[in-house]
Amino acid sequence: MARRNTRGIAAGMALSLVLTSAGCGNGSVAPGSEPGSETTVSIAAEETGDVKESESHEAGVSGTFEGSAQGFQGEVRVTLTLENGVLVAASAEGEEETPDIGGRALELMPQAMVAANSVEVDTISGATLTSNGILEAAGAALDDSGAVLVRQEVSVVQNMKPGTYTGEAYGKWKEGTIEGERFGSPAVIRPTKVEVTVDETSILKVKVVDCSDTPGFVEACTERIPADIVEHQSIAVDAVTGATLTSQAILNGVSQALTEAGADLAGFSRTAAKSSEKEEYHVQLVIVGAGAAGTMAAIEAMEAGIDTLVLEKCGKLGGTSSCSTGFAAIQSEQQKAAGTDEYTVDSAFRELMDFCKWRANAPLVYNILSHSGDTADKLQSYWQQTDNPGIVKAGVTAHDTGKGIDKFDVLYEGFLVPSGINVMLETTAKSLIMDGSKVVGVEAKKQDGTSVTVYADNVLICTGGFGGNDEMLKEYFGHNNFYLNGLSSNVGDGINMCLEAGAALSDELAPHLAEFCSNKNMDFYAGYMKFMNQAGFLALDPSGQRFVNEEFFVTQALSYGASALRRVGFAYLIFTQDQLDAMVEKGLWGVLSEETIDSLKLRSRIIVPSYYTLNDEMEAALEAGEAWKADTLEGLGEAIGFTDQEIYKKSIADYRQVLETGEDPLFGKRRDMMPDLDQGPYYAVKVISAIDGTYNGIRVNENMQALNQEYQPIEGLYVAGQDSGGYFSYPYYEGVGWTQGYAWTSGAVAAKHIIEEMK
Ligand SMILES: Cc1cc2nc3c(=O)[nH]c(=O)nc-3n(C[C@H](O)[C@H](O)[C@H](O)COP(=O)(O)OP(=O)(O)OC[C@H]3O[C@@H](n4cnc5c(N)ncnc54)[C@H](O)[C@@H]3O)c2cc1C
Repeated sequence: MARRNTRGIAAGMALSLVLTSAGCGNGSVAPGSEPGSETTVSIAAEETGDVKESESHEAGVSGTFEGSAQGFQGEVRVTLTLENGVLVAASAEGEEETPDIGGRALELMPQAMVAANSVEVDTISGATLTSNGILEAAGAALDDSGAVLVRQEVSVVQNMKPGTYTGEAYGKWKEGTIEGERFGSPAVIRPTKVEVTVDETSILKVKVVDCSDTPGFVEACTERIPADIVEHQSIAVDAVTGATLTSQAILNGVSQALTEAGADLAGFSRTAAKSSEKEEYHVQLVIVGAGAAGTMAAIEAMEAGIDTLVLEKCGKLGGTSSCSTGFAAIQSEQQKAAGTDEYTVDSAFRELMDFCKWRANAPLVYNILSHSGDTADKLQSYWQQTDNPGIVKAGVTAHDTGKGIDKFDVLYEGFLVPSGINVMLETTAKSLIMDGSKVVGVEAKKQDGTSVTVYADNVLICTGGFGGNDEMLKEYFGHNNFYLNGLSSNVGDGINMCLEAGAALSDELAPHLAEFCSNKNMDFYAGYMKFMNQAGFLALDPSGQRFVNEEFFVTQALSYGASALRRVGFAYLIFTQDQLDAMVEKGLWGVLSEETIDSLKLRSRIIVPSYYTLNDEMEAALEAGEAWKADTLEGLGEAIGFTDQEIYKKSIADYRQVLETGEDPLFGKRRDMMPDLDQGPYYAVKVISAIDGTYNGIRVNENMQALNQEYQPIEGLYVAGQDSGGYFSYPYYEGVGWTQGYAWTSGAVAAKHIIEEMK
């Protein structure tokens, strides 16, 4: 593949390098030169420690070299073209990388490599895995060439046409996707549109003129990113944590506009230097994470007049908690007013403990339930004073808080910040500060690189679990065949910091399984494919065996259905062309009867009048090798490629018997959820579990104090929300709002205990 040539340029020597803008392949010229002119600059070769041979570039390596490495989804390949030891062209490809995110790295990093005459360039924020793959592949290509590149500080002279240009790109949701109303965003999805004003050499102004991504998530992007681009004259600025896709849409739009203006993107691809500033704070309480748990703790601290600092990694408030609606609490005022207060803390306690066979931490469960009603009342007392309705409805346990970040914003803007609670957004806690075995503070980093040291009497960790950390999912759950429907920035920081401080894990760390299905390589959640497990279609495990009563995906979705799918890792759902067509036309109405749908009490967004994008989704899945089609069921098994076709054939024969008789002796599936398999062609689609995040983490007592291996509290350390463990067991309790209810209430319980101890 590559030509090998071991000649290179010596390290540590000064050399004369002739560059032309054409010769560099990207218009890059030395400082002060005119575009297209030949310029001679003297630069010092860097210390590589790997000196091959002293030689000037005129006699250096020439040729085209390729390297490959693993990116985010698949292989990335880099091609380097060298002329006399100088990198004159570079390109990167990776068909399986996400176009909107990895695509930026594939486009920008090779340009930066040529500009710097080096394969060691900055990674693109938000596309770390693709970027690392590109670096590794480029390193391999360079190794193959045998050349040693001499890094050069080249400034690109722009020659843009002054004016205002527009660019646009989609964030998470593309046109035609159904998820418009998710997290409270508008139903009509439009691309994010930017306007970029330039003169010949500089970016003068960037403005986001339209963005239909989720309100609350986007503001941090639409405010900081344009300002950063202008300040640093770079499109390689940091994405906003927690809103990566919107960030990338803005940056992609700006790249487009600059290209239109005639810019050389390599000149606008330098990563801004990080700040080396240091800040130090001394407070009574530092709260890490501003989701439900952290926010409720901040409210209690505010009321008690405790000097408190909140550190939040994302550019927005609310964490995963801003996605949820249900909030389980017992004996709130709203329940009493609605006459649903016959259900007491004692009855809820017995129900939860019986459900989990008493595997949960009984004192913790009781304490949380006891404080849950008061917590709901307190929150509502604040929300009532704002434009946000807060809890709009209360049932026997569930309270409907509505989705969205606004419910958090109003608490911070209206009460917490004006009362002196210090909140730092885009500030990531990195480690706990220890004094012997006692926790006395937190080390953190701001997005601009500033180091933040917080000394505190008490530290409360509530970073929301580790749904976004593939390695931890694999380590604790045996596989990472999960599609994350929650925050990818919740990566277990809090749990890992506590473990380093000597805390122990609780017994049952668990994925917070959601009710719909998705796919590892395709975003079924952006379309209707995620509802394919709602029709009762035959489901087979990776070996081709039936493994669950498929009606459980609907009737016991969070417990039996979800945990069976998690166990097998992935499954194939099998259905016919007629059924697919019927769903395209009528959604679930096309395959289930009205009585069945009524009895299932499905959510309104599942039983919409048509799954109109399903054909396109299926086509994409077939093309990606995540779905299969065949005229016969036998042919389908072969197309899927089961290792032992006999297992599959037996499953099909047994299931045909079930369909014929209407009796399912082994699994007990109800008759009205058995769509037939009479007539081909047939489809199979590969599905995995979706998760909202994880629950259970650090072992805590009923006051939310972190416990060590000896079950003793670690002084100064509290944990709440999904970072803390013991309240739940696995599988999840089939009820509404238990995780959100736990998050709010456990934050309150932790803060109350801290306040009590401080008296
Ligand atoms: C789509 C969806 C719907 C859901 N619906 C429901 C529902 O209806 N009912 C229900 O009970 N549950 C629901 N859940 C689950 C529920 O929202 C969460 O379990 C719960 O809100 C978690 O609260 P938390 O405070 O523990 O974490 P989060 O709300 O996630 O807060 C953690 C915060 O910590 C921040 N953070 C992380 N690392 C750091 C760090 N190193 N430094 C500083 N900050 C950090 C994060 O950015 C985040 O803001 C849903 C989840 C999803 C994804």
